[in-house]
Amino acid sequence: TCGICVEKCPFDAIEIINLPQELQDDPAHRYGENAFSLYGLPAPQEGRVTGILGPNGIGKTTAVRILAGELEPNLGRFENPPGWDDVLEAYRGTEIQDYLEAVRDGDLSVARKPQYVDQIPKQFDGNTRELLERTNERDALEYLVERLSIGPVMDQSIDDLSGGELQRVALAATLARDTDFYFLDEITPYLDIGQRVTAARLIRELAEDEGKSMLVVEHDLAVLDLLADTLHVAYGEPGAYGVITTPKSVRNGINEYLAGYLENENMRIRPNPIEFEEHAPRSATRGDTLVEYPDLVKSYGDGEFSLKVEGGEIRKNEVLGVVGPNGIGKSTFAKLLTGALEPDEGEAELDLEISYKPQYVTIDQPMRVDAFLASITDQFGSSYWNTEIAGPLQLERIMEQSLSDLSGGERQRVAIAACLSDSADLYLLDEPSAHLDVEQRVQATRAIRRYAEQQDATVLVIDHDIYMIDLLADRLMVFDGEPAVHGRAGTPQSMRGGMNEFLANLEVTFRRDERTSRPRINKPDSQLDRQQKREGEYYYAP
Ligand code: ADP
Ligand code: ADP
Repeated sequence: TCGICVEKCPFDAIEIINLPQELQDDPAHRYGENAFSLYGLPAPQEGRVTGILGPNGIGKTTAVRILAGELEPNLGRFENPPGWDDVLEAYRGTEIQDYLEAVRDGDLSVARKPQYVDQIPKQFDGNTRELLERTNERDALEYLVERLSIGPVMDQSIDDLSGGELQRVALAATLARDTDFYFLDEITPYLDIGQRVTAARLIRELAEDEGKSMLVVEHDLAVLDLLADTLHVAYGEPGAYGVITTPKSVRNGINEYLAGYLENENMRIRPNPIEFEEHAPRSATRGDTLVEYPDLVKSYGDGEFSLKVEGGEIRKNEVLGVVGPNGIGKSTFAKLLTGALEPDEGEAELDLEISYKPQYVTIDQPMRVDAFLASITDQFGSSYWNTEIAGPLQLERIMEQSLSDLSGGERQRVAIAACLSDSADLYLLDEPSAHLDVEQRVQATRAIRRYAEQQDATVLVIDHDIYMIDLLADRLMVFDGEPAVHGRAGTPQSMRGGMNEFLANLEVTFRRDERTSRPRINKPDSQLDRQQKREGEYYYAP
């Protein structure tokens, strides 16, 4: 089996024993003989935020093109496409019937935020203001600019924006449009947690206050949970077929997804569940010290930005999580460790060999993936390397492709592999979750942890996906301050202490899902929210 459908294969790759219900029906659309087929459609609803949770290449864009009226669904009859009447007949009595009627009648309008915001500068010449003014249809631009803190870059050329700035500008440009239906393909890459929560709230407001239909694909589960009213899970074999389930409650959808088993569909989508630790996290064991560093201070220029680092130690063989807003000095700290930057105060004779994966992955030479990775490690192709690195990061299928042809998620996986394959004292991964779908995040998390355990490697991971940090890290380092002005790096501490400090800054508390122990963001000012704040338990609350 291919590992997705454990028992049954709709593609005749193995004998079909028990075809799941969804795949016995006609698909919504099939591109051609032996081409991708999409089963099921998401059902956007007025005034609601509908989420889709699932891998890339599973037909989300295909579904949106259908919902936008750009692609007439053929119910699998690509040779002799049926008309709209047959399509509507096929969807009679389903959640999506009314919506499809509106599509048939022609005038549904759609605004879409693309997945890869990094591509925007290639398509647009001009500054932020010019880009945003083009889509200012609801007279909401000023408000969006303020809420998303875009003001400081309004007159900056789009070419010069960072990934996080581009993401917020793209979001504002989409939400400023006046359409019936908004499709947002991932909102969180490059955003810090505060910005993620703001983006989620803006989307909710547009649904609740303006009655708009929102469809959001999102891989940050904590944010998806906060954002969506209902959830479709998508599964299948990327590139071959995709099934979009009927809507579930967000809670059940995420829980079933994490459990690896979809209840209504009677479908196992992963051999093992993803589990969160119930109460206190891994207690920070006392390992040997890799490096001890004293208090440090570093400023740029005439003190436009200054970072104060509280002295501490990094232990051998640990995964140290690093959290904090963007622009607070995390990369600056990394450069102090490598010796690339000299501190103004304090002596950091560290001289560590660091293997570094930057936040913005830029590998795009015209070179094959296998050649590139082989140039980094002579372990390349060994059975150890294949099992621990290539397998979990799903590199086999892209080994022969050119780096320049990779998608964002593929490039990220190659970059993580390259970082871990180098020999170093310390592995530093800056936002490894960006552009990975949930399954790939889980796999990457596992690869990084196993690597640390088996190679006695020490890993520092900066990420804004709180679930990924929870699953990955042994201890936590918290940065706070005022972005772009001054930052403070706290000493590494236990997960519990670190999460409490970090989330107190953000004023966000998490409760535990009763069934799965999955952390869920509390409604602000709810009883639990207030109680946990009083008790100072922001994350690992009972
Ligand atoms: P997602 O948005 O989930 O990443 P897409 O809907 O873009 O997925 O694509 C799903 C699959 O359909 C991919 O394998 C893609 O190559 C294929 N596909 C998309 N458009 C066409 C087309 N016009 N003809 C044939 N195959 C297509
Ligand atoms: P983070 O990694 O937390 O996003 P950085 O360490 O990259 O933060 O940057 C912190 C602040 O320092 C930002 O305001 C950034 O613009 C500024 N900065 C970074 N590098 C330089 C530099 N070489 N010269 C001047 N300012 C810089």
